[in-house]
Amino acid sequence: FTVSSRRTSRPAAAENMPRLPIYQQKERLVEAVRCNAFLVVTGETGSGKTTQLPQYLFQAGFWKGGKIGVTQPRRVAAITVAQRVSHEMGFTLGREVGYQVRFDDCTSKDTVIKYMTDGCMLREILADPGLTQYGVVILDEAHERSLNTDVLLGLMKKNHCRGGSHSRSSSLKVIVMSATLETEKLSAFFGRCPVFTIPGRTFPVSEQFCNLIGPKDIDGSGYVKEVVNMVLDVHTSETAGDILVFLTGQSEIERACDMLFKKAEAIDYRYDVRDRTVDGLLILPLYGSMPTDQQRQIFQPPPAGVRKCVVATNIAATSLTISGIRYVVDSGFVKQLAHNSRVGMDVLEIVPISKSEAEQRAGRAGRTSEGKCFRIYGREFWEKYMPDYMVPEIQRTSLTSVILTLKCLGVHDVIRLHHAHLLLPPCFRRGHVTELGRQMVQFPLPLGLTRVLLRAAALGCEELMLPIAAMLSVENVFIRPGNQKQKEAETKHREIASDAGKNNDFTMMLSVFEKCKSSESPSSWCRENWIHWRAVKSAFSVESQLSEILLRIKQQRDFSTEEFEGSQSELFRQCLCSGYFTNVARRSIGKSFCTMDGHGSTVHIHPSSALFGEESQLDWIIFHDVLVTSRMYVRTVCPIRYEWVKDLLPKLHEVDAYELSNVAREEVTEEEVAKWESKEAFKRQMGDQCDSS
Ligand code: ADP
Ligand code: MG
Repeated sequence: FTVSSRRTSRPAAAENMPRLPIYQQKERLVEAVRCNAFLVVTGETGSGKTTQLPQYLFQAGFWKGGKIGVTQPRRVAAITVAQRVSHEMGFTLGREVGYQVRFDDCTSKDTVIKYMTDGCMLREILADPGLTQYGVVILDEAHERSLNTDVLLGLMKKNHCRGGSHSRSSSLKVIVMSATLETEKLSAFFGRCPVFTIPGRTFPVSEQFCNLIGPKDIDGSGYVKEVVNMVLDVHTSETAGDILVFLTGQSEIERACDMLFKKAEAIDYRYDVRDRTVDGLLILPLYGSMPTDQQRQIFQPPPAGVRKCVVATNIAATSLTISGIRYVVDSGFVKQLAHNSRVGMDVLEIVPISKSEAEQRAGRAGRTSEGKCFRIYGREFWEKYMPDYMVPEIQRTSLTSVILTLKCLGVHDVIRLHHAHLLLPPCFRRGHVTELGRQMVQFPLPLGLTRVLLRAAALGCEELMLPIAAMLSVENVFIRPGNQKQKEAETKHREIASDAGKNNDFTMMLSVFEKCKSSESPSSWCRENWIHWRAVKSAFSVESQLSEILLRIKQQRDFSTEEFEGSQSELFRQCLCSGYFTNVARRSIGKSFCTMDGHGSTVHIHPSSALFGEESQLDWIIFHDVLVTSRMYVRTVCPIRYEWVKDLLPKLHEVDAYELSNVAREEVTEEEVAKWESKEAFKRQMGDQCDSS
């Protein structure tokens, strides 16, 4: 195509680009890509790697050899960056420049620059191992060490070395981009490929340890209040310049924004604020599942005199760069998925960040002028609880799903994808992928949930499970306003539950889905019932996408079906058991339950569950996930009968998800074991401190 004829507007931000450090390197960079099959590119965050390099390659004609694909560990980053780049180039998003993330494909046959999550790229490799549609693959944010990016690194290398059937290695360019120093390792991994460093200058950032929190704050999230006070302090006593605040997740961020908003209203700008040019505070949240139109505001400069304050998750540390930031307020915590040995499964946990992450966060204040970073923790916290580097995801989460994917790709020698220092090789029994495994790997869902869906399809009741799988894939649909309206919301939710025939959290989701879908005006139904319309709307879309995949599978080969004798409720719950047999618990003392995964951990039903308060009526349950605070809570719960899981439970002890993820740690180095142990010790200490306080 001709570029000029398609442009929707004048390239928008062209005037801004020459100022970016990468601009000076344009020719050299393009040349380096031309000359090398593998290239590592590094440079300060904000230097222009993610947004500019794909454009340079586009201009240099690389698209003639196939698409330019850029992977991101985070979904929001993929979307936001694609928006930005299509805007800079003057294209309509989804045409020449597009993005693809799970359940949201915004590309077309014309797309030549494609931003995507690393998970989507992995899925594409499954369908087309040689990546025949691509001329260039850029693996961005390699320093984040996300599980999928690590696996992609291995696959790219393997693909190249293997030659053989699906190799078009001679022409595919692989570029790995990283914000930090680990570039030596990366280069070594790719046979000492060249490292291209984008020089850039940053300004000094003064760092203060404010010592407002201690270890006990990790559970109570009491640090949110301290963070809010700190922000107000900065706003009233520091000179003009925007503030970037690091918290851990959506609910915390929203709470912090509410608190900030209320307190900021009380400021009297005639007396309270030191810098007379500052006369307002604009508070903006930034987290993963936020609607994109709201995200756009983050990047816009605030009105004159107004100080912008962005309250963000770790996404603002390296993936997205916001200009104008002079002050950083760091909570010192991050939310991450980790294998929890107390529960024996992967759990989202709030943990202290590493020292290197803290430096990275602070650095955001020094991009365009000198800045200041306020850490709400103290020196002691830094020394004692913050590790030097973060443990890569591949070493802290269950590998079941990745292993299945790799095996489907014919990588049986799973993760002999080399170099223990980059990809830690787990060793486990060999085994071949069954037909069921091949079907399962086609779903962009957790394996347990996929198993449930396929069982339901075999029994001819997928219409019950598709909505549930969809609802579990979107953000929480139940609004809990947390103020005087809380009672009203709870009553409405309870009404939906009792209409659903009482009983469990899964049917409750199904009921919300169906009621909303069949109502005359779904959005007003949601408003009346304290349900998130945006979330249910995406669940509708996810449901139809999953249903398409399922239909395809049912047609693929002779898909075997089963008969079922029993009530609808039994059918429903038995389907759930076929996927959730790893998450079974039995009631023990009082309101507590004991997990049946070989760990025998004590768990409680979370207050958000329809079954909360009904514990005494229950015996065996399954649950969707676990929330770890000072207690372990199970969420999204369903009562079951022992007979339904008894044949599955013993198998669980033989080869199970738990074991698979643990063997992954058998070959770790002593240094890593020491790190693990100190982390575990840290958690125990946290636990002790919280229990006694
Ligand atoms: P890197 O990948 O090297 O960290 P980026 O390419 O993400 O850098 O960003 C380069 C510059 O482009 C940033 O300094 C930022 O100011 C600007 N930028 C990036 N995304 C946006 C956006 N969505 N809106 C406005 N400016 C942006
Ligand atoms: Mg980047």
